[in-house]
Amino acid sequence: MRKSDENLSRIIKQIEEKNRAEKEFLQSVREVYNSLPPFLEQHPEYLDKKILERIAEPERQIMFRVPWQDDSGEVLVNRGYRVEFNSALGPYKGGLRFHPSVNLSIVKFLGFEQIFKNALTGKPIGGGKGGSDFDPKGKSDDEVMRFCQSFMTELYRHLGENRDIPAGDIGVGTREIGFMFGQYKRIVNQYESGMITGKDPEWGGTLVRNEATGYGLIYFVKEMMEEKGEELEGKTVLVSGSGNVAIYAIEKAQQLGANVVACSDSGGVIYDENGINLEVVKQIKEVERGRIKEYKERVDGAEYKDGGNIWEIPCDIALPCATQNELQEEGAHKLAENGCTVVAEGANMPVTLDAIDILHDADIAFGPGKAANAGGVAVSALEMHQNASRDALTFDETESRLVQIMKTIHTNCYETAEEYGTPGNYIHGANIAGFKKVARSMDALGVI
Ligand code: NDP
Repeated sequence: MRKSDENLSRIIKQIEEKNRAEKEFLQSVREVYNSLPPFLEQHPEYLDKKILERIAEPERQIMFRVPWQDDSGEVLVNRGYRVEFNSALGPYKGGLRFHPSVNLSIVKFLGFEQIFKNALTGKPIGGGKGGSDFDPKGKSDDEVMRFCQSFMTELYRHLGENRDIPAGDIGVGTREIGFMFGQYKRIVNQYESGMITGKDPEWGGTLVRNEATGYGLIYFVKEMMEEKGEELEGKTVLVSGSGNVAIYAIEKAQQLGANVVACSDSGGVIYDENGINLEVVKQIKEVERGRIKEYKERVDGAEYKDGGNIWEIPCDIALPCATQNELQEEGAHKLAENGCTVVAEGANMPVTLDAIDILHDADIAFGPGKAANAGGVAVSALEMHQNASRDALTFDETESRLVQIMKTIHTNCYETAEEYGTPGNYIHGANIAGFKKVARSMDALGVI
């Protein structure tokens, strides 16, 4: 066993002991740190300086009560979170998730991932994440507004364009961002556009932000395909979820000539061999905030399976775009059996560590989320840039920057994997490239 491996095992054990109850957080730490031995072998100074221990400890974590009243006047209480994980590269940046499953472990795993993802974008942004166990599903617009106002009434004091800049995630879209921005603006009495991203372009947002994560994912996959000497055009694609990331991944995949045959939500899976009709999905999900099973009623020939497993459907490319740990061993075996050649994560940590091993063993190229879904936060950084300069880019200008950013991230991951002896392993490439940048900066800033 190499010395760096021994040290690493000891460090991971310490982190496990310290954060026993946080299984998602520990999963994300293992995923990143297990990639690092070839790098640490060359840079033992980062072990001596306890950079790994320091990165795994958030700079600050905030938990707070969010009381609000529903339409009947009943008082309800949720819990709010913001984990300000690492500000070595810039102010904390990362989304807010509103979903009943949100807890400290989930916010910490998302924040930890975000540190390295943000580093890969090449933008000067640190990592953070937040949210609440509030469920916007089935709530009226007024209820969502009251919740968002109460949430921001506590959180505002920790935010600011040079301090901490949230954005959307599961359950937080333009509507929620609007209510939170409105409340912040009212409290601080300043139109500080740069304190949150994901705003509507009419009031300080950027074009392409809504599309950015899904589009960026497809641009990343296109690079992966080209690296294998293949094309995206004509390929059969599965996209899980039917939220923001899924919808715009489907849109760009279709624009580039792929055939997306399935999507899903937490209720079940839609299969449409003629290719998903995206206008119908947008109408159900973006306009009506309905369930994906309604697709079957509206499109001839479509099939719906309650609680189905999307990964059983034969495909060339599989894109998990819903939530963490949605693609497990069984799904990975099915994909391998059915001849899938590329899996890339639109969601954060949707593929379990065991499933990743199965994909690698089957020689399926695997694009980890911190690289493949970084387009969203990269365009958020462009939004901050436009807010600071009081300027607005066109759709095409923004999209061409996104394309360039995704290409650069791909090249960085690919070349880093090669440099450290694991060619084609995008996980190692992404983790080492992201870690290297954060570690160097932390070192330069002293013991803080
Ligand atoms: P949305 O809320 O817009 O959509 C989430 C989708 O995932 C919905 O279809 C939802 O179905 C499904 N889903 C959520 N939880 C579960 C679950 N437990 N089981 C099965 N399906 C579920 O979120 P986004 O599209 O914004 O985010 C999706 C993923 O992408 C998340 O992992 C997020 O962290 C990640 N991501 C998002 C970015 C962004 O810019 N939005 C940026 C980078 C990563 P249902 O309606 O039934 O709950």
